[in-house]
Amino acid sequence: MLSMLFKNTTQKVLNRQLLTQVQSQVNNLFQSQPIFRETLQLQFQVDIFVHGGKDSISKQVEEVQKYPGIRSIITSASDDLSNPYGDHVSQTLKKVVESHSYDKVIASTSAFGKDVTPRLGGLLDVQPITDVIQVINNGQQFLRPIYAGNALSTVSSSDKIKILTIRATNFEKIAAGSANTYPVKEVAAQNDNVQGKWLENNVSESEMVELGSAKYVVSGGRGMKNGENFKILYELANVLGKQHCAVGASRAAVDAGFVPNDMQIGQTGKVVAPDLYIAVGISGAIQHLAGMKDSKVIVAINKDPEAAIFKVANYGLVDDLFKVIPELSQKIKALQ
Ligand SMILES: Cc1cc2nc3c(=O)[nH]c(=O)nc-3n(C[C@H](O)[C@H](O)[C@H](O)COP(=O)(O)OP(=O)(O)OC[C@H]3O[C@@H](n4cnc5c(N)ncnc54)[C@H](O)[C@@H]3O)c2cc1C
Repeated sequence: MLSMLFKNTTQKVLNRQLLTQVQSQVNNLFQSQPIFRETLQLQFQVDIFVHGGKDSISKQVEEVQKYPGIRSIITSASDDLSNPYGDHVSQTLKKVVESHSYDKVIASTSAFGKDVTPRLGGLLDVQPITDVIQVINNGQQFLRPIYAGNALSTVSSSDKIKILTIRATNFEKIAAGSANTYPVKEVAAQNDNVQGKWLENNVSESEMVELGSAKYVVSGGRGMKNGENFKILYELANVLGKQHCAVGASRAAVDAGFVPNDMQIGQTGKVVAPDLYIAVGISGAIQHLAGMKDSKVIVAINKDPEAAIFKVANYGLVDDLFKVIPELSQKIKALQ
């Protein structure tokens, strides 16, 4: 999770929260890295907040040190934070914000960001501004989609502290570079007043790249008929390269139990903007489009020529997916 904190318009502090010690998850956090570019453009200073278990914190700090544009790194290490829990993190974050007088906190619009920021907003009596796609007017105004992405709204807030979540896919990424030596300050985790506790993580195991950072996404809808049939999408994803390609789904496919809900793309699922999005047996409801319409190239495969997905697709194929997908996999394989 990424959060940004500002003291005034000329001094900006970015506060990044690293979720766990697991390397892949650490990497996922850096999808939010584009915010650095935005931050640098606005000449703000950036602090990164890293939290986690005592055994993982130094590795996470090492990762953060590779990125440019940071003023300092603030850490909070506690065995209770090995598995981050929203209330615990927001209580600690409140302490960090108050003790450093930050006036902006920015997190990514991830499930975790969406868990922590409203809690922090409640603790600080501040209204978070969510799903920001552009920071405008020198950080005084924010652009965010509304009505499932059908309209854009420019918002500002008179709150002294601005709490934002940003849609990482709308910001340019910055690559990790050589290691820096930013100063590291420690803040004790806040354990008082924490309601509830972490019990367990139920994470689906996949050898494939995470959906949010995939270069290519193959996504299946209700047209797949059942979960078993998703194997043809996994085969296609494998041919495209599992280090680049992830498999997603529409909500109808998730609700029907074909695939787990962490694969859902759309308004109430994940937002992706890969180089290539292949929508297979998906009709193109606005709630689905809200999660993928910013993809660079969209390919739609649907047997219904009237399907709404064809309106946003760069390439459309009206045909039976059960015929087309295996053939497509075979042809791409033959070219390799
Ligand atoms: C508040 C709210 C939030 C929502 N959030 C989301 C969200 O986050 N993500 C999301 O996806 N939806 C979301 N929805 C649901 C959304 O409105 C649609 O119901 C859903 O996206 C439809 O999924 P689908 O396209 O897979 O299914 P359908 O609309 O049933 O489309 C299936 C498509 O498969 C095609 N097809 C069938 N068989 C074949 C075949 N053999 N070959 C080729 N094509 C075939 C059909 O022609 C059809 O176009 C939300 C709805 C609401 C009200």
